[in-house]
Amino acid sequence: MQSMIIANGEVKDEIILRGAAALRAGAMAADVAEQVARDVEDDADDHSVGFSGKPNILGQVECDACFMVGATRKAGAVAALRGFRHPISVARQVMQRTPHVLLAGEGAMRFAAEIGAERRNMLSIEARALWHGRLREIGLTDAQIHDLECGHPPADVIGLANAAMNWRDGTDTMNVMVRDTAGRLCVAVTTSGISWKYPGRVGDSPIVGAGLYADDRFGAAACMGLGEVTIRLGTSLKLVSLMQGGLSMNEAGRIVTREMAEMLAPSGSTRTHVDWVRIIAIDRAGTPAAFATSQGRFIKVQGADDLEPRLIEAEYVPA
Ligand code: ASP
Repeated sequence: MQSMIIANGEVKDEIILRGAAALRAGAMAADVAEQVARDVEDDADDHSVGFSGKPNILGQVECDACFMVGATRKAGAVAALRGFRHPISVARQVMQRTPHVLLAGEGAMRFAAEIGAERRNMLSIEARALWHGRLREIGLTDAQIHDLECGHPPADVIGLANAAMNWRDGTDTMNVMVRDTAGRLCVAVTTSGISWKYPGRVGDSPIVGAGLYADDRFGAAACMGLGEVTIRLGTSLKLVSLMQGGLSMNEAGRIVTREMAEMLAPSGSTRTHVDWVRIIAIDRAGTPAAFATSQGRFIKVQGADDLEPRLIEAEYVPA
């Protein structure tokens, strides 16, 4: 069977190529998906995932991650995890060591510490500077920024977060979808979420059915962009369910993407700086696809015979 790695376009080629080499050497989809996600979490150039991800409005890097295996539909996830180097590995361990699917906040951190997950200060110098820059742009003085950093935020953190999020900005949750030579599917999603978010805000990335879904019998899906939309629509599960019901991947992808585009249309104003969603999919035959509510969203696809990842633009589906 044709093995395949599909990831968002921002993931570096060298990371995907390392995963492809492991697949060719017989590695399982789950191990490759975890490895690719870990490599992206370590990539300091990526400001939306793991180390060096942009923080929440209080300067804390809060990570969400989920790991789902298509053969069993087992999943593990963490939300609002702070201070651990590899959220995706903690998520996989939630799946393997507990009867739960999702651990959040303090409980997720307790679990990570208990299993001996590696700790790391996830706020890089660069991400901290970006945070300071945004705070200055919305009118904070250096003294106010200093207070914030010392744990003395103003009373109106809601207003502060809303002001900071109110401009267009990029985001690139890491989605990786792997199919191995045995036809097993695994999806890993890891992110520091929407930058400058309200503390404790959880996006779609750790929510099975919203940010991702995998079922070897029908296919898989994973999302990037404004998580609030895919949570409200259950987008990833819906796409896979439509394929289960007999629709082609393209039909299913266009239906769910149009639905998201309608929700994102100006009348349904999102009030954040991210106003788009892109979804990656694979069908049971191993064919990849991607759809987006805005133009210029790319994915990378690496089949067993490809010398390097192919950059493919997601099909734009307007409202
Ligand atoms: N989907 C992520 C979230 O809502 C954001 C992203 O794609 O970076 O947290």
